[in-house]
Order: sequence, then C-alpha cells, then structure tokens
Amino acid sequence: MRSIAVINQKGGVGKTTSSVNLAAALAESGRRVCLLDLDPQAHASLHFGITAHGDAPTMYEVLCGNASLEQARQPVDGNDLISVVPSNLDLAAAELELAGEVGREMILRDRLEEEQEPFDYLILDCPPSLGVLTLNALVAVREVFLPLQPHFLALHGLSKLLRTVEVVSRRLNSRLRLTGVMLCMYDSNTRLAAEVSTDVDEFFHASKSSRDFFNQAKFFETRIRRNIRLAEAPSFGQSILQYAPDSNGAADYRALAAEVLAQESAAAAELISRAA
Ligand code: ADP
Ligand code: MG
Repeated sequence: MRSIAVINQKGGVGKTTSSVNLAAALAESGRRVCLLDLDPQAHASLHFGITAHGDAPTMYEVLCGNASLEQARQPVDGNDLISVVPSNLDLAAAELELAGEVGREMILRDRLEEEQEPFDYLILDCPPSLGVLTLNALVAVREVFLPLQPHFLALHGLSKLLRTVEVVSRRLNSRLRLTGVMLCMYDSNTRLAAEVSTDVDEFFHASKSSRDFFNQAKFFETRIRRNIRLAEAPSFGQSILQYAPDSNGAADYRALAAEVLAQESAAAAELISRAA
C-alpha cells in the first residue's frame, strides 16, 4: 500500500482538488483508495458528497481514540473502490485537545497500524497549516505530495515546509520521502507559469543531492491546467471524472494518475535491481 500526505501550509493551492481527483483517477485504474480528510473545513468530504451526519464517527473520533478508521470510513456513492473518512468542524477542536498529550503526533500512525489495509492507496488531504493534524499525517505516511500554484511566490514559505518534513523524517518517521511535486492551476499561455516551472525544477534539482528525504522527489510532468469544471465539481458532490469526464481537468488528473502509477513500477524495478 502507498500512503501519501498532500501538504502545503498555504490555502487554495489545490491540495483538496488534487486529493479528490487523483483518488478518483486512481480508482478508475482499478486501485482501491481510501481518502482521509484531515481538514476541519471538510472540503474533501463534501467534494465526494459526504457529510458527517448524526452519530457517525469522523476523523475527530478516530484521533480521539473513540473510533477505528474502519468504523469511520464511508463509501463513496457509485464507486466501490473509494472510501472516505470524513471530517467536520469538530476536528478543529482536536488540534487544541491534543496539544497537551504525550505522543500526540503518533496517534494516526497507531490507528493505521490497527487497520487491515484493504487499499492500494491511502491519501491524506491536509489542512493549510503545519499543526498537529499535518504532523499526524507526516508521521503516518511514507510519501509527501506537494501541490504548488505557479505564482511568483510559489517557492516562498517552502523552506519552512521542507524543514518540517525533514525534521519529521529525522526524528519521527525515517521512511518519509517527498515523492511528488505538482503544479496546479496552470495557465499555459502566461510567461510567469513557465518561469515558475523552471524555478521549481531548478530548486528541486539543486536540493536533491543534499537531503535524504528529497532523493526520490519527482516533479510531475503533468501540469494541472486552470479549468472552471474543477471548481464547479465540488458543489455537485462529484469528482471531475463524474462531473465532467471530457474536460481538461479530467484529462489532467488522469495524466497525473498515470505518472503516479508509473512510480509503482519504478519502485518495484529499484527493489529488484537492489536485490540483484
Ligand atoms: P486547498 O485544498 O489547497 O486549499 P483547493 O483544492 O480547495 O485548495 O483549491 C482552491 C480553490 O481553487 C477551490 O475553489 C478549487 O475548486 C479551485 N481550483 C483548484 N484547482 C483548480 C484548477 N486547476 N482550475 C480551476 N480551479 C481550481
Ligand atoms: Mg483543502
């Protein structure tokens, strides 16, 4: 199973859109996907048409130890391959409630270890901060995906984020690797977007040799173009593949999923060559 946290402490860069639509595109290729909504704003849950209702346990109950992931997982309508552990505003309280607990960063990892793991992909949509919720995600997963907006400040704030990932990989989760960087909301006909692409490419190239958690980082070739359909889909509670299967947005997330799937065979090939 691959476990991937989608993080960026900035809001509005495409974390949720990418988590949801990548999950849908991976499922379209036959992978079983579980999406954990770690943002109290619950955008990923809503995007899949799921609301935390009544007494049904959510991510909050999971982190407080009152429910297992299995109990909190909900099926996505019309897709047997995807399930979601939804969140709601209660999750904002978890951040405060857990603040004083010993080992608070390890809770989610422990919950995942109790799971039977009937999935190929576990995707964690993180909130726009580097607080306890994001730390729980970083301790629980093996991989980090980083969505960036081609903005002239795209790389601003990145050093803090990467330092956090590095500290977690050194102290709490030695298997953690940054494995994917993607550009979202790309305007192909602006010079700025092309320039930012080059900057990002150079930045990651230069950093690769110096840091362990970087050495498998892939700057995905797929650019997620700005597409209004992607912004409309959440209000219908559908992924882009259901809402507008022929849109550029659907094509881009399918292409991204193909690159993500290609990493599986690359990783397998590396294992084989190391064993030889
Ligand atoms: P984050 O989770 O990082 O805060 P979102 O994925 O919620 O960011 O995206 C922020 C807003 O931009 C949302 O309204 C979303 O629908 C919209 N959006 C995301 N990606 C695209 C895109 N490629 N084209 C157009 N709108 C997009
Ligand atoms: Mg979000």
